[in-house]
Amino acid sequence: MARAASRRWSDVFLVEQMPRLGMGASTRNSGVIHSGIYYPPGSLKAELCVSGNKMLYEFCEAHRVPHRNCGKLVVAHGAAQEAALEQLAENGRANGVEGLRLVDRAAVRAREPHIEATAALLVPTTGIVSAEDLVKTLAYTPMKSQACWATAAIASTLCAENTANWFAPNLTWSITSCIRCLTRAD
Ligand SMILES: Cc1cc2nc3c(=O)[nH]c(=O)nc-3n(C[C@H](O)[C@H](O)[C@H](O)COP(=O)(O)OP(=O)(O)OC[C@H]3O[C@@H](n4cnc5c(N)ncnc54)[C@H](O)[C@@H]3O)c2cc1C
Repeated sequence: MARAASRRWSDVFLVEQMPRLGMGASTRNSGVIHSGIYYPPGSLKAELCVSGNKMLYEFCEAHRVPHRNCGKLVVAHGAAQEAALEQLAENGRANGVEGLRLVDRAAVRAREPHIEATAALLVPTTGIVSAEDLVKTLAYTPMKSQACWATAAIASTLCAENTANWFAPNLTWSITSCIRCLTRAD
């Protein structure tokens, strides 16, 4: 968001209460680039996850963030779980996840010799990313376009009249105008 906003305004601040950027969930997660197979079709989460998957690979390529498009196997043991896999595949296809394929025991074995499964759903668009490197790159990229950051600083109050426009398509606010009170955390 800071990157997008800083293309238009010169007074954009990224505010972080911790001593360094990226000390929250974003560097402590599993580093999975999710495909979007699980979300309900038609939901905003499904739409954003599927489009975000492609955008994240493009961003990682463009900014040399370590990542790997390794794919994922969702495995099944027995007929009941295989039926659930087919439903999951349908769900993923409805969300626009590309390349989903049900594979048999032999295909699972060929790919992952230590996994015992009767079948699996192959999800080629899943991957992994170095979360730490991603956050650092995301943090530095907006700075190239003049945004600033403040660490050890807490945004304590947001202006109600500006937050109402937060998600408006024609943004007329600047982030700094939303920050009424900026105090040092230490
Ligand atoms: C265990 C776990 C595993 C996960 N695995 C994955 C995964 O594999 N793949 C995936 O895509 N997602 C995963 N997620 C989800 C993902 O990590 C989060 O959706 C994402 O990190 C949220 O990013 P964020 O910027 O909203 O929050 P954060 O990364 O937490 O950033 C918010 C920042 O705002 C700061 N802050 C808060 N309040 C203030 C204030 N008043 N003033 C100043 N600063 C403030 C915080 O200190 C924090 O640094 C996982 C989540 C968890 C918990």
